[in-house]
Order: sequence, then structure tokens, then C-alpha cells
Amino acid sequence: MATVVELPVDLFKGPVDPDWCPGCGDFGVLRSVQTAAASQGVRPENLLIVSGIGCSSNLPGFIHAYGIHSLHGRSVPVATGAHLANTDLKVVITGGDGDGYGIGIGHLIHAMRRNLDMTYVVMNNQIYGLTTGQASPTSTMGHQTKSTPRGNPEKPLFPPALGIVSGATYVARGFSGEAKQLADLIAGGMAHRGFALIDVFSPCVTYNKINTYAWFKERVYKLEDEGWDPSHVDKSLAKAFEWGDRIPLGVVYKSDQPIYEDSEPVLQKGPLTKQPLGVGKELFAELVEEMI
Ligand code: SF4
Repeated sequence: MATVVELPVDLFKGPVDPDWCPGCGDFGVLRSVQTAAASQGVRPENLLIVSGIGCSSNLPGFIHAYGIHSLHGRSVPVATGAHLANTDLKVVITGGDGDGYGIGIGHLIHAMRRNLDMTYVVMNNQIYGLTTGQASPTSTMGHQTKSTPRGNPEKPLFPPALGIVSGATYVARGFSGEAKQLADLIAGGMAHRGFALIDVFSPCVTYNKINTYAWFKERVYKLEDEGWDPSHVDKSLAKAFEWGDRIPLGVVYKSDQPIYEDSEPVLQKGPLTKQPLGVGKELFAELVEEMI
């Protein structure tokens, strides 16, 4: 196993400061992603952050690493393409609950069942923030929002449960108000070989007046404090549905299983970017011409 050489967290500070509302939970998530990358010794030139659209999806602009700010709900296929083209890159997807669990949910499910070796950090504020406060797939029933003025009639999605049944092999839940634990959870996801889904309570202080920092602080507890063993899928699935007066934070489920890349013959010779293209210079130039 390669030795991990920790890096300074400030190495990952981007040239642009975030323009999120003061107090937005996404600040804590950004810092935790930076801390996790530093603790894992992943240098900025070996780190790719891919996002979709939404307040939280602006994150790649605020971190010193490669970044792609893609289309709404399309961060996973973009990340998949980049990852399979260069499996030497550490790929971390970042975005919000509307982007990931609403518009992009089909992509997410297929990436999880493939157990691709990527990490997805979802900043779950239970509302659409960028579009000024509509109900999202994780808004609780009865929540009055701009799009549900008489109360949300829909049941919310339980992301950790979705992750477990879809095939993700590292499923965790964090809270931006618990920065140290969150950084450890993201670092764990980056170190894990397989798909890591990390659902993070990241309060929207402007549009969600129900699921606030105070609301979570009254309810969350840490699984590691209770000696939780995340290796039993049935118990983990039951834990993933826990909600109400007690809400668990930590690694809900973890399993070592083959990853998609293991069964893809073309990847067995190493990253595609390091393999010969197999075409002559003229054809290569033609292909480039066609692409740009
Ligand atoms: Fe954060 Fe909400 Fe402001 Fe968006 S609207 S930056 S999610 S607090």
C-alpha cells in the first residue's frame, strides 16, 4: 500500500472566494472536501471535482483542483467519462439534492450499481436554493415552500437507503456543522475502492427555515459513538431509514466488492490516457478537427 503524504489544506484554496449566502452549509462542505483531499495526499493536479447546477454545484470554482461545472443533473455521466478516460485521477462529484436526487437520479443509480470508483458528496439542504426555495426530493412532507404553499404532499427520499439498495459500497451521512467528522467521512470515501455516496446535511439558511443547524443539532448523533458496525447490509438499510428525534451521522454501510473497472478489459493495461491511441498522426489530426 502506498504511503500517504499529507498536504497543507490551504494548497486547495481556490483563487475565487465562494459567493454563497453567509452561513450557508456549503462553506463547511467545501472546507471538508479540501481537508479530505489534503489528508489523502491527493495533489490538486490529480484531483477532479465535477458538479452539476445549483448553489452547491458552484464548488469546483472555489477549490484549487481540476474542475468541471457541467449541466443540471449530469455531473455523474461527465465524471464517469473523465474517470474512465483517466483512472489515475481522483474524481469527486459535488452537488445538491435537487441536482443529484431529482434531475440526475437515473445517472446516480447506474453509477452506484456499477460500483464505479468515485466519490459523490451531496450537499443536501432539502430545498432548491438557487431557484429561491422550491420543494426538492428530500423536502419533508408538509414542508411549505414556494412550490408547495399548502405543504409538500410527497414523501422524501432517503438517500443512504437509496445508496445501499442501488449498490454503492460506501454510504455515509455527514453534517456541515460537524466539520471534523465530515472531513473524515469524505476522506474515507476517497480512500474507499468503489462508489462512495456521502449525503451531507448542508443547511440553506436563506430558504429552508425548518431544517436549520439548530434543528439538526438537537437530533443528530454519531454512529461511531455507539460502536456501529457498517458491514451488515440488512442492519445498515434499517439504519438508513432512521429519522425523527434521532438521526444518525457516520458510515452507515461499507463493503469491499469488485468495481466496474476490474471487469473492463480495456482498462487492465492502465489508464486510457496512457495507452497508445492506435491511430496514425493524420487520422488523429482529422479526429481532433472533427471534435473542435
Ligand atoms: Fe446556500 Fe441557500 Fe444561499 Fe444557496 S440560497 S447559497 S443553498 S444559503
